[in-house]
Amino acid sequence: MERGYNFSAGPSMMPLEVLEQAQRDLLCYPGAGCSVMEMSHRTPAFEAIIGEAEAALRRVMRIPEDYAVLFMQGGATTQFSCVAMNLAARGDTMDYAVTGQFAGKAMEEGARWGNAVAVTSSKAEKFTHIPAITPDLLDAGAAFVHITGNNTIFGTAYRAAPPHGDVPLVADWSSAILGREIDVRDYDLIYAGAQKNLGPAGLAVVILRRALLDREIDPVVPIMLRYKVAADNGSMYNTPPTWSIYIAKLMFEWVERQGGVAAMQAQNEKKSALLYDAIDSSALFRNPVRRADRSIMNVTFTLPTQAETDAFLSMAKGRGLINLKGHRIAGGCRASLYNGMPLAGVEALVRCMRDFEKGERA
Ligand code: PMP
Repeated sequence: MERGYNFSAGPSMMPLEVLEQAQRDLLCYPGAGCSVMEMSHRTPAFEAIIGEAEAALRRVMRIPEDYAVLFMQGGATTQFSCVAMNLAARGDTMDYAVTGQFAGKAMEEGARWGNAVAVTSSKAEKFTHIPAITPDLLDAGAAFVHITGNNTIFGTAYRAAPPHGDVPLVADWSSAILGREIDVRDYDLIYAGAQKNLGPAGLAVVILRRALLDREIDPVVPIMLRYKVAADNGSMYNTPPTWSIYIAKLMFEWVERQGGVAAMQAQNEKKSALLYDAIDSSALFRNPVRRADRSIMNVTFTLPTQAETDAFLSMAKGRGLINLKGHRIAGGCRASLYNGMPLAGVEALVRCMRDFEKGERA
């Protein structure tokens, strides 16, 4: 089977250019005599790779100097715990906006550590919108308020950072980082799993105000989960996921060559508008999300019956449009349109939807 258009929510489609570069360097990284995978992280060659990765991310996201950039392990899920354990003392109140499955999981981890409070939730409406956050909903003494910027499973997103008074704002931007502009200064801490717009799964990027690193940490917090330890050791307290960091560097540099995050956002808006227009003008496909809250990265849609859903997924697969099945808890279909998905992929998907609606089955 040839490479198709991969609409997976993550791990997800990467730019061919990045994969080809990785392929060229796989056996021998220029000047190193070995692959990045075979290279000690204490060599000048890898020090340069991780340094360039951070520098490129700082450029594309315009990360101010008073923010630290950390490369951590254990995906975004480990950050659910890290955020609570690094920013709150045992028993502290932590506010959470529950806008989806991952937001709920983040709160669950907070609840192991302290008093995790759901200040707002769209669960009763099956997470089809983003409920507003206003400072009066928040506990003024809360250690932080946590939002999930883009809800991968349900295809919703915040348009802008919510008002949060003096309560520090933490955001999980896993599924939209580098896909749309995010003003880092609007947040105290941003984290993201890599497997959508940044590279291989397992790696997580954390961007946080350096001032937060000075907090006293409970002695029970494992060394590997401490932001200060990661920051003081250049994200290399132990052996970091060297290959993943190298691929992330290639991804950051690729975004920069495309014209940066603004250009990515313009492209992602164009791709998602094409798909939402196709859904909205169809009598067969439906998107349940409140329009103002629609994500430009993950587009969910349904057909009237499971049989039609299966038939559509099968026809799409036959045309090389793969991984369109919705998340198991949401059902239906989902097209993830991360930076690696070209416009031509979305055009092919829209053509497939129109043909299906006309009665074609292949
Ligand atoms: N947050 C969001 C918004 C996600 O989409 C995901 C994974 N799809 C996660 C957290 C969990 O990430 P990981 O599997 O890397 O732990």
